[in-house]
Amino acid sequence: MERRVLFLNPPSYEGFDGGAGSRYQAKREVRSFWYPTWLAQAAALCPNSKLLDAPVEDMNVEDTVAAANGFDVLILYTSAPGFRNDAGLVKRLRQTYPAMLMGMVGPHCTALPEDTLLGCSSLDFVAKGEFDYSVADIAKGKPLSKVEGIAFSRNNRIIHNEDRAPMEDLDALPSVLDVYKRDLNIKKYFIGYLLHPYLSFYTGRGCPGRCTFCLWPQTIGGRRYRTRTPGSVLDEMRRAKDMFPEVKEFFFDDDTFTAKLDRVEEIARGLKNLDITWSSSTRANVPEKTLRIMKESGLRCLMVGIESGSDKILKNIKKGITTSQARRFMRICRDLKISTHATFVLGLPGETKDTIKQTISFVKELDPETIQVSIASPYPGTELYEQALKSGWFVESDLVSCSGVQQVSLEYEDLTGQEIYDAVETLYNKFYFRPRPIIRILGTMIRDKEICKRRLREAKEFFGFMRDRKRTGTGSLSQ
Ligand code: SF4
Repeated sequence: MERRVLFLNPPSYEGFDGGAGSRYQAKREVRSFWYPTWLAQAAALCPNSKLLDAPVEDMNVEDTVAAANGFDVLILYTSAPGFRNDAGLVKRLRQTYPAMLMGMVGPHCTALPEDTLLGCSSLDFVAKGEFDYSVADIAKGKPLSKVEGIAFSRNNRIIHNEDRAPMEDLDALPSVLDVYKRDLNIKKYFIGYLLHPYLSFYTGRGCPGRCTFCLWPQTIGGRRYRTRTPGSVLDEMRRAKDMFPEVKEFFFDDDTFTAKLDRVEEIARGLKNLDITWSSSTRANVPEKTLRIMKESGLRCLMVGIESGSDKILKNIKKGITTSQARRFMRICRDLKISTHATFVLGLPGETKDTIKQTISFVKELDPETIQVSIASPYPGTELYEQALKSGWFVESDLVSCSGVQQVSLEYEDLTGQEIYDAVETLYNKFYFRPRPIIRILGTMIRDKEICKRRLREAKEFFGFMRDRKRTGTGSLSQ
């Protein structure tokens, strides 16, 4: 008999976008939630299951404990910033449901399985790496000792079962659409630069990039881009369009959707017949020919990690892309009228006051439609984390503040944490408070009443966030 499984994106912090779809786990400047796709994928393998996205549903610990009633197994997706609070929640759940089998999954468990088990004694197991089939085995009633890819405690000892090989046949996974339909309220998912409502998927796992700070390819996805076939992706898109006619935009949220050019061109040609609007992740190295095919098939926006305006820093983090390549890529996108959302990270190894200035002028020069500025987060399991430990760069082990907002963990000889923290706001201000972005934003607001309402709400949230951020500051960091 299949066990009843609750897949939980936990309420680690209020409004926390930290769960099973977020690469930078933190509360963001405006209400922002990625789909909990990793959990949805595993839930799709367990017919007797439910996916609960507590932050999106504005559920607190009490609500979540009540909602767990009636389940045999709990699968909680934790994160480095959320772990402490998530461990507290599991303890509460254990007191309320002593017989429930409880496990944690996600990159944090993969990087630190023993610490996770020792730090949360109420847990029964952790699943490492891709956890889909490990959880499916547990749902079917397999004893923990026989489940590949997990670690568990027995008689004060931690036992590591054999690792599970990376999944090769991704087409064999059932679609996440039925789980989305059954368990999620898609209207509650917002991403600032995507149309609303949006729907996101993965069409593959892993990334050939070697960026030292990037969490998923170094923990759960791997350095090889394993993909679903174009036919399977297109079938799913056809279904998605029928099942969710209200969706305005589909987002391919693979680490790097454009990592295999022939494949992306084949998918794009197929999407053209579906007449949908779509967007995706990319690196800044896609040739014009491919971008043109993507644009002609309904591509609206590309989310691209530029990270820094300093070639020295790009080299330090093994980005594999130079500022000249980024410049060229952005120019082609502009010519083809592809909108861009560019992401930047401040406080990466080699950052100085000068490189921050370079990044600020580079962002203005590139002039993407929207930007995201994050603080370098040394997640356990990444090369950046090891490098920071060895180099003595840590000044704070908590990656987020007590309200879930990113804080500075690393500082350098010539650059204090406070300077990195302040530079985030400076970069936003220097970019957005210029005539061009203001006119762009006003233009979209005038053209569409819904967007107008949304932008006004986001502006209010953004300024409130920045006010609180300034008030709370970086806490323990040097000034
Ligand atoms: S290219 Fe993007 S997804 Fe790939 S490793 Fe670098 S940052 Fe991560």
